[in-house]
Amino acid sequence: MDVKIDMISKIVPREISPSSDVPSSYLVTCDLQYLEYVELDVLLAPNACDIFSDRIRHNAEGFAKVGGDSIRLSRDTLPPIQTVRDGVAGAYQGRSWFLPQDRYSHVKRGNFATVEHNHLKFFRDLLGENRVLANSSDCQAYNVDWIRSVRGYSQCVLKPKTAQEVSEILAFCDKHRLAVCPQGGNTGLVGGSVAVFDEIIVNTALMNKILSIDEISGVLVCEAGCVLETLEDQLAEKDLMMPLDLGAKGSCHIGGNISTNAGGLRLLRYGNLHGSVLGLEAVKANGEIMDLLSTLKKDNTGFHLKHLFIGSEGTLGIVTKVAIQCPPKPKALNVSFLGLQSFENVLETFKLARKELGEILSSFELIDALSLDVVTGYHGLKSPITDYPFYVLVETQGSNVAHDEDKMNKFLEMAMKTGVVEDGTVTNEDSKMKAIWALRERITDGLLYDGYVFKYDLSLPIKQFYGIVTEFRERIGKDAVRICGYGHVGDGNIHLNISVKEFTQDILKRIEPFVYEHTSQLRGSVSAEHGIGFRKPKYMHYSKTESAINLMKDIKRIMDPNGILNPYKVLP
Ligand SMILES: Cc1cc2nc3c(=O)[nH]c(=O)nc-3n(C[C@H](O)[C@H](O)[C@H](O)COP(=O)(O)OP(=O)(O)OC[C@H]3O[C@@H](n4cnc5c(N)ncnc54)[C@H](O)[C@@H]3O)c2cc1C
Repeated sequence: MDVKIDMISKIVPREISPSSDVPSSYLVTCDLQYLEYVELDVLLAPNACDIFSDRIRHNAEGFAKVGGDSIRLSRDTLPPIQTVRDGVAGAYQGRSWFLPQDRYSHVKRGNFATVEHNHLKFFRDLLGENRVLANSSDCQAYNVDWIRSVRGYSQCVLKPKTAQEVSEILAFCDKHRLAVCPQGGNTGLVGGSVAVFDEIIVNTALMNKILSIDEISGVLVCEAGCVLETLEDQLAEKDLMMPLDLGAKGSCHIGGNISTNAGGLRLLRYGNLHGSVLGLEAVKANGEIMDLLSTLKKDNTGFHLKHLFIGSEGTLGIVTKVAIQCPPKPKALNVSFLGLQSFENVLETFKLARKELGEILSSFELIDALSLDVVTGYHGLKSPITDYPFYVLVETQGSNVAHDEDKMNKFLEMAMKTGVVEDGTVTNEDSKMKAIWALRERITDGLLYDGYVFKYDLSLPIKQFYGIVTEFRERIGKDAVRICGYGHVGDGNIHLNISVKEFTQDILKRIEPFVYEHTSQLRGSVSAEHGIGFRKPKYMHYSKTESAINLMKDIKRIMDPNGILNPYKVLP
């Protein structure tokens, strides 16, 4: 099959020719058109190096990943198109893609149409020239996910501005059997937001209007493409805030948040989106606009259909508008950062925080030592305390500065007195609070510098919350660069991360399915908040019964009979 030159992301000299100083063989990391990254042994043509120089710089910024499959390129065919042997390959209308053989070979392109000139003409007539991207380089950024772990090959990105335009796009795609991938800010961590093959990407970035903010009821109505942080800023002017917050707030869209039922950093206090979303508007696969945009708190008239769109990851419809209940902006904020000697002490501290801080406790986040190393090491952030195996970030949000400070101080006093917390710092200064939050929020992107990261987002009974990290340290040990755990203790949601220099099947086999079996035995969830996306459909059964999965499939059939919406995702 063919691998194009622009997929190459890293080149390292491997062999030096005995007759000269010029390397005769290089190890090349190649982002193939479809998923994952593959290691290639390349014998370079003498003039090929210049062509690759951009990619070498790119890699110097630390983005490259290496896959486990080893494929040899022949010297004669470089550049610009190389021939690769081995692997599962397919060719479609002159294009080709590659499925890393033993990871995704079960995924076959569905029987969908391919985007042709007459389809593009329809989209251009509807949206205008500028809102239809239809060449490879324009589409490239929309085809790769945030952690650069999956890659699609969409040749068409559409940017509607209204629900009516989304409706006309979907009605057309449904009629012509064109598969569609809805996309918000593309910060999802399970590969749901990028095409798998050549699905049309419908990106909501231009649906970004705030429609109303009711200062009395605190209800915000806005379009799906509003960026979470922009909403937060606009609400702050009215002394309101969003009921959710996450590290990706600068990029993620509220429509994406709803479609993934994003949890985030303050779920402990404000609950999940099934509670705070009052209503929404969504477009079904056949183009029908579902007006469920109620702003009522109470409405028990029939089935609660909005919930079907919350967390269904774009498989049942495209969310176009949202009505969301926003809490008042807290007048008092306190953040403390604590050092602890054991996970048992973390649990004791959580118990104490619930008791002593009560209604003002808004976050209780765990960072273990190796997670902290990521942000102090790669990002150069300063931690106010160091040399503990566990750190906890405790935040309070309330309406009375003196009362909240008093509560926080008493809580800390008790925690120190009983010895569960050994050291800690507390602040209500904006810049210092932000600096402490950065220690938690930057872990996700910092980990990418380690190499390849196996990421697991698990709900576990709180007592067994951290055991999985220790378990993997025993199982994998020094074969990993890092095995760390951080996350939302208050919600029983741990992010287990196992980073390795390079992806290998051997490590994968030592992690999976054990990680899912272990979670299932503890009656946990294999996806606490990130969703199922493309990466996890085959693991859903570890957390859902067969009858539950069958009912999901029935609902999908009713709402999207031709299966055009986000195929290959969520449902096994
Ligand atoms: C640094 C970082 C920190 C993160 N922290 C958290 C966290 O604390 N908690 C958490 O839950 N997640 C977290 N995430 C994951 C991610 O940010 C969330 O899943 C977020 O809700 C995705 O929003 P998005 O707009 O980027 O959606 P995308 O990534 O674009 O899409 C996600 C899924 O929703 C679908 N979709 C998007 N928009 C729509 C729409 N309008 N209608 C229908 N379907 C749609 C897509 O098809 C895809 O399946 C984090 C990610 C990063 C990079």
